[in-house]
Amino acid sequence: MKKQRRQFLSQLTSRIAGLGVMAAAPVLSHAANSHISVKNIRISREPNKTRLVFDLDGPVEHSLFSLHKPERLVLDLKQTRLLDSGSLESLHSRQLKSIRIGVRNTHDLRVVLDLKSRTTPNSFLLEPKGNNGHRLVIDVKEQISSSQKRDVAQKKALRDVVVAIDAGHGGNDPGATGSLGTHEKNVTLQIARRLKKEIDSTKGMRGELIRSKDRFMHLRNRIKKAHELDADLMISIHADSFPDARARGASVYALSVSGATSESARLLAEKENKVDLLFGDVDLNHQDKMVRQVLLDLSLTGTIESSLDIGDEVLKELGRVGRVHKKRVQQAGFAVLKAPNIPAILLETAFISNPKEERKLRSTAHQNKLAKAILRGVNDYFSRKAPPGTWLSESQDHYVIKKGDTLAEISDKYSLPVSHLRTRNSLRGDNLRVGAKLYIPAG
Ligand SMILES: [Zn+2]
Repeated sequence: MKKQRRQFLSQLTSRIAGLGVMAAAPVLSHAANSHISVKNIRISREPNKTRLVFDLDGPVEHSLFSLHKPERLVLDLKQTRLLDSGSLESLHSRQLKSIRIGVRNTHDLRVVLDLKSRTTPNSFLLEPKGNNGHRLVIDVKEQISSSQKRDVAQKKALRDVVVAIDAGHGGNDPGATGSLGTHEKNVTLQIARRLKKEIDSTKGMRGELIRSKDRFMHLRNRIKKAHELDADLMISIHADSFPDARARGASVYALSVSGATSESARLLAEKENKVDLLFGDVDLNHQDKMVRQVLLDLSLTGTIESSLDIGDEVLKELGRVGRVHKKRVQQAGFAVLKAPNIPAILLETAFISNPKEERKLRSTAHQNKLAKAILRGVNDYFSRKAPPGTWLSESQDHYVIKKGDTLAEISDKYSLPVSHLRTRNSLRGDNLRVGAKLYIPAG
């Protein structure tokens, strides 16, 4: 074994000698002076990059630079030796021609990557985590070929995720009015516009306003518009009100076919299930009824599970920018009347009946915070569950789970902590579904 390795390394160093920068000495003769060992070198070929992982027994000091004509990357590792030459021959990809290793300055290791074209490399160190020890990762981006350019063009043809944003009330229906005279209909429209701006500036997503002006819109027309827009999600924005001015905090509602999370939601549902479902004239003097109607309407459109999932994400983010009225997404047991197809949530952004919260609702800064929080929640959901055919679903780095795969192995393959994979994919247990997509977080 030892003899073989020595033989291999001496061949290697003599191959490298031609470079003129390397000492043509066997690596192992300097082992006594070395502090860090390269235990193994692994390669993974990903859609747009080649990743080399150096498994080390300690943190290494390294430098990486490019040389041109021919294109090479030179990696210097201070006070390092190569323990296992492994099969360097197998370390190649569309971008990487070959890899050569030699000793430099007596105890440093120099790694030369021969490339097929000029590229921008990236390198970083990873601390020990789980089954992995210290690692040095080198990412080599692949030059885009004409066939890949076609793929990119195809990706551009993929559609955006569409979020229908419904500003509650409007026109001769002001919604609730705060003690400072703030009308709910104005606050909801302002927040809706800011949310649209946030969503539009997120790649792969598009926000559409159900109403863009101060005008009355029938509930059934709001739903109809969401359908016409082929929305993937509908967010109805409201502000709460309660006789007791102390009531405060944001709430998120989704619908449930059975069971309600709170007594008030249950009472609401019982009443509402008796309501004329053809949506006769809405009694504008009863804004509570308006909210109930919206909730009921959402039951016509909502796929409950998705709605709850999105609701959870949004509630979590709203909790970061302000107080939350109820810690869970509220559900009411409305009857589902029609084949559901658009997940929907209703947000009570704060209590307009609470003067402190009313002032917040009027402030541009707070409205922006709310919009950003809602976007983050929506984004967290769609980055896990983007609808097929959307740019978001196609552009995410993912791994398709094969029979026998374990989380530990997959995280090892991508040199990522298992916890990152769990968070990114909302995984709690260890069960992996064969054929399912596992999204790979960046970096
Ligand atoms: Zn309202």
